[in-house]
Amino acid sequence: MTHELKTGGDRGYLRIATEEAFATAEQLDAIMRLVKEGRADKGTVSLWGFYGTSASERTTFIRERLLDLGPLRIAAMDEAGIDKAVLALTSPGTQSMHDPEEARRIARNANDHLKDACERYPDRFHGMIAIAPLDPEWSAEELRRGKEELGFHGVQVNSHTHGHYLDEAQFDPILRACADLDLPLYIHPQGLPDDMIGDMANAGLDGAVYGFAVETSYHALRLLTTGVFDRYPSLQLVLGHGAEGLPFWIDRTNYMFNAGVRSQRYDRLKPLQHSLHHYLRHNVWGTTSGLPSPASIRLMMEVMGEDRVMYAMDYPYQYVPDEVRLLDTMDMGEAQKRKFFQANAETLFKL
Ligand code: MN
Repeated sequence: MTHELKTGGDRGYLRIATEEAFATAEQLDAIMRLVKEGRADKGTVSLWGFYGTSASERTTFIRERLLDLGPLRIAAMDEAGIDKAVLALTSPGTQSMHDPEEARRIARNANDHLKDACERYPDRFHGMIAIAPLDPEWSAEELRRGKEELGFHGVQVNSHTHGHYLDEAQFDPILRACADLDLPLYIHPQGLPDDMIGDMANAGLDGAVYGFAVETSYHALRLLTTGVFDRYPSLQLVLGHGAEGLPFWIDRTNYMFNAGVRSQRYDRLKPLQHSLHHYLRHNVWGTTSGLPSPASIRLMMEVMGEDRVMYAMDYPYQYVPDEVRLLDTMDMGEAQKRKFFQANAETLFKL
């Protein structure tokens, strides 16, 4: 052990964890009902069929901790030296639901529940808004309520909604509200859509192990390559898990995207105002949830800029206090480290 982990800034920075999950009992009950009745997407069956029922030590810990927005979570944060958590309703949020009224109710109640917790721990908890993408117009209104009445700092969308993606015209009210309200849009993974999961579940690779990054980076690239950020130049997208690998791939993606546009290979691909690199440096932020790797962090900073990379723990799914020690001691200037752990999150989320 290199050093004791303390909150309060003893190393010159506060630590803000930016992708931290909670659940409501109402949400988990609704998801498990869909799983049990055979009405859930395959990805939800794979994910929540496991997390919702397994008696293993890890899943029991996760279920208990997801439902807690009180002393257990604060103690875990204290033990890991995490000063503040930016909290979001856990994946898939309301996006497994088929009934818009149920999705709206669960999102609204989760937002009110999180608001209460943020009021109990104003120095420790900050909220992100849950929405119901099944109903984009209502979601846009909930974004306004979340920002103006609840004082929340962004929105988490758990990637696809029954295989549909935010670049589709039906979701435009959500993108427009994020841009108008200056709310960061965090796209977080969920179980893969039925027409993508294919054999990945049989291979045991559909979840956070691999499939999540495939599907969520695909979602982000759909936004980038269809000109969403030309339409909404101020819109800010946040991606976890090392920006879902995009910084590593971006040169090849950009080259082949431009080649495809020039040859008019696909109707959907049109010239953009900028290179894909530009959008990574002006519209995308990356967090380290589940990927506490100094090499990945250096690559993200080089490609995206050191002002766009933030710490996240992904509590309670990957609660590893030792990763904080590792990142405290990574080879990086003090000012840069302060941006990474504290200042960038304060800037983006207006904390
Ligand atoms: Mn997560």
